[in-house]
Amino acid sequence: MEDQCCPRCKTTKYRNPSLKLMVNVCGHTLCESCVELLFVRGSGSCQECNTPLRKNNFKVQLFEDPTIDKEVEIRKKILKMYNKREEDFQCLREYNDFLEEVEEIVFNLTNNVDLDNSRRKIDMYQKENKDTIQKNKIKMTREQEELEEAIELEKHENEQRRLLLQKEEQLQQVMKRKNKQEFLDQLETSHLPASILLAQHKGRSVQLEMQAEKLKSFKTDTFSTGIKKGHHIASMPVTKIEEALYQYQPIHIETCGPQVPQIEMLGRQGYLNQVRAASPQDLAGGYISSLACHRALQEAFSGLFWLPH
Ligand SMILES: [Zn+2]
Ligand SMILES: [Zn+2]
Repeated sequence: MEDQCCPRCKTTKYRNPSLKLMVNVCGHTLCESCVELLFVRGSGSCQECNTPLRKNNFKVQLFEDPTIDKEVEIRKKILKMYNKREEDFQCLREYNDFLEEVEEIVFNLTNNVDLDNSRRKIDMYQKENKDTIQKNKIKMTREQEELEEAIELEKHENEQRRLLLQKEEQLQQVMKRKNKQEFLDQLETSHLPASILLAQHKGRSVQLEMQAEKLKSFKTDTFSTGIKKGHHIASMPVTKIEEALYQYQPIHIETCGPQVPQIEMLGRQGYLNQVRAASPQDLAGGYISSLACHRALQEAFSGLFWLPH
């Protein structure tokens, strides 16, 4: 981002660290002050491509390449219309074709390819699918609302649980203090020996501790999804795939020529004398000279169409 530069006033990020580049629907950039200057009246046209622009359509450039900013804006707009879902199609194939069409339109609009045709296509699509677009828009809003409601409910429940726990813990503290005070009072007034009183006090303390422990274990009885802990969730059984295990078959190479000698025979038959011996470095990497020799032979023997008599 260091070399960002306003194409109009040539200010760079280096010279003015607070430089803010803005980008509009055509994907061309201008710095914030140039936007203020050129679009005083709220609208004007792009310096580079003459596209009529509105001032309030300028957005801070988020990506290093302003074309991506442009694409993101276009995609947002297109997906508002092309909002069909998989269930709106007869088969996956049709859905995939639809997704591809969306990509093509986004690409064309971003890169100024075939603009008139693409716009015509969008208009036609919009007219033909008016009802579906509206229906899916409503569906999406409803789903969004349901999600927000669920989150709100969960927040509320968490808050309730927190308050309840806080109250219980405060109560515990009060009980503990009371227990201690009682013990001190008894020490003063009771005729029983101190050791017995101490034992009684300890017994009560242990009980209080146990209650506190129990409380803690109750703290979380649901997961953040709202599903009760220990609650069994039925899920679809995984279908077992039964198929034969893979078995390695050595590769058969058809050279369409004379039989290539076995790799183990190359040394004995003198072929290896014709190639460079492997150096210790080669061997460390797992290379042996018979490998290269064998390949060279395969290549040389290929397509010789030699017929033995
Ligand atoms: Zn500028
Ligand atoms: Zn432009």
